[in-house]
Amino acid sequence: MPARPSNFVMLVRSILRRCPNCGGRNIFATYTELRESCPRCGLRLHRGESDYFIGAYLLNLVAVELLFALLLGIVIVVTYPDTPWVFLQWGGVALMAVGAVLCYPFAKSIWLAADLIFRPMTEEELAWHRTGGAADRELPHL
Ligand SMILES: [Zn+2]
Repeated sequence: MPARPSNFVMLVRSILRRCPNCGGRNIFATYTELRESCPRCGLRLHRGESDYFIGAYLLNLVAVELLFALLLGIVIVVTYPDTPWVFLQWGGVALMAVGAVLCYPFAKSIWLAADLIFRPMTEEELAWHRTGGAADRELPHL
């Protein structure tokens, strides 16, 4: 098994929407949907878990909320005392809706990288992924 990539490398790969494990491209079937497994290394991109997407949802929510808070603070500081409250109200709604969609695929790949950082994949688990996660064999890291 090749050496495990560093945490930094895995995060950069995930921001580029590549497989954090091997750097392979085309891990997304559509803009928001991950493929079942990485075409290059065989890692099952949900790591064999049915509720894996919840972490990406949470990460996406936090990222968009932080983006909104940052932009809200900048607009208030720059325009005070003539703060455009109506623009902030409706612009905030638009930002939250558009930002959630635009950031979601990145949240998925970054969540996968974070999971691989905190729960490193073993050679046994990668072998399990490459066999398609056979139903008769339990996921090795559980
Ligand atoms: Zn891969």
